[in-house]
Amino acid sequence: MTNLDPEFCRKFKEARRNAALSQSMLAKEVGCKQSALSMFEQGDGTKLNDGVIAKLCRKFNMELPKEEKEDKPAVAAPRPAAALRALPHSAFCPNALCPSNLSYFVDGRRFLKPDRAAQDPAGGLYCAVCGELLERHCPSCGAPVHDGAVCTFCGEPYVAVADQ
Ligand SMILES: [Zn+2]
Ligand SMILES: [Zn+2]
Repeated sequence: MTNLDPEFCRKFKEARRNAALSQSMLAKEVGCKQSALSMFEQGDGTKLNDGVIAKLCRKFNMELPKEEKEDKPAVAAPRPAAALRALPHSAFCPNALCPSNLSYFVDGRRFLKPDRAAQDPAGGLYCAVCGELLERHCPSCGAPVHDGAVCTFCGEPYVAVADQ
């Protein structure tokens, strides 16, 4: 896979952003390097194997344009509203300074528990309190976010707190 249709890449990037995923988060989820994903979004798929590209397409319900076909079906980019409805799990605000991330302590270590009702009252893309882009996947392992302060899949806290 070398050269990708620029229109496909643009729509792919848009779909990723609509899903509130950073390149690094998505790369971790599908098992590739952030740099490779960045090149993919710029039209160079050479650093990704076909399996990873298939995962990326599946994730956003997109198809690679088939070059050999004359009448290629238009790849419909999810519109923001539709993408929002399709977002399957809870979100959290990754901003450690956001007042809606509430401090609590376990064995002297500080954790932040996101107040989801305050941050994401309407299923939006941005924190309703501070305006940061909400995260819907664990920044450490890429698993879907659930309630609580710590990811049950990898055990890492959702909101990173600098060591005091
Ligand atoms: Zn916030
Ligand atoms: Zn995790």
